[in-house]
Amino acid sequence: MSMRGMDRLLDLQATDSSIDRLEHRRGQLEAGEDLAIARKQMEDAESRLGELRLALDSVAAQSSRFEHDIESMGRKLEDEQKRMYGGSIANAKELEALQHEITSLKERRSRTEDELLELMVRREDMDARASKATEEVAATRARVDEVGGDAARELDDIARNLEELRATRSELASQIDEELLELYDDLRRQKKGIGAAAIVDGVCQACHEKLSAMELDRLKRDDGIKRCEYCRRIVVFA
Ligand SMILES: [Zn+2]
Repeated sequence: MSMRGMDRLLDLQATDSSIDRLEHRRGQLEAGEDLAIARKQMEDAESRLGELRLALDSVAAQSSRFEHDIESMGRKLEDEQKRMYGGSIANAKELEALQHEITSLKERRSRTEDELLELMVRREDMDARASKATEEVAATRARVDEVGGDAARELDDIARNLEELRATRSELASQIDEELLELYDDLRRQKKGIGAAAIVDGVCQACHEKLSAMELDRLKRDDGIKRCEYCRRIVVFA
């Protein structure tokens, strides 16, 4: 005669594992872990956008400085060219100096125009990145709202499921020998929530060790509580 309730032990273990899983999940939800992750993602997106906007402002300021420089160099060039061809300067040395000044102004203006062009290309790229970042901020904000609502719904589901599982648990527990149940509960506390496991093809499904043929034979003939020779959990032949 085998111990009363041995055949219900695996059902009890499955029920207890479900309860453990749901309680763990409830803990996560109550601690707001998902929400915290979503918030962190939102904050990261916002800070990326903020940085891009700052960089864009600085590029815009630099661009208008260049535009202003180009304009003033243009005015100066016009003036110098008027002087050059206005006939007011007859001195060859002075004319030469003026010519030199005009050439150098043209070179500087052209360099500045190139720099402005480069800046505009960079600005276009940054604009594109900024609009992507703006979309990301909107998406992560929506996610934060969604996660908040999801968590509330999931907590309701968990409460309902836990109630059912606990009813199942006490029903099962009532069918199991007291000594066996006590050992099972003790083992669960000591061994990460698993007190009983099936033996499938000679392998303990808790510790995954293969029991020796001799030990398997001995266990099969044992009418008392059977335990894995490696992890010491209660074992049930599947
Ligand atoms: Zn084992």
